[in-house]
Amino acid sequence: MSLADRLAENAAKRMKPEGYCAYQVMYENLTKENKKALDDAWAKGYSYNLVLMALRAEGIKSSNESIRAHKKGMCKCPKE
Ligand SMILES: [Zn+2]
Repeated sequence: MSLADRLAENAAKRMKPEGYCAYQVMYENLTKENKKALDDAWAKGYSYNLVLMALRAEGIKSSNESIRAHKKGMCKCPKE
């Protein structure tokens, strides 16, 4: 890869596409089982912190801010 290509690629990665939501991106990358586990956790009313700790323990990157924004509808997910 040439430097120009590398720069273009890195720039593209840094650009957040329209409708970018860190939580949604994380969620979409989960396995089917983990998506269900996460859905269940919210259904059970688990706290953001509890869920975040579990995600991190499983090596899944997320943040309190992205979870909070998504759950409060303050993220960039398309709204109904
Ligand atoms: Zn979202």
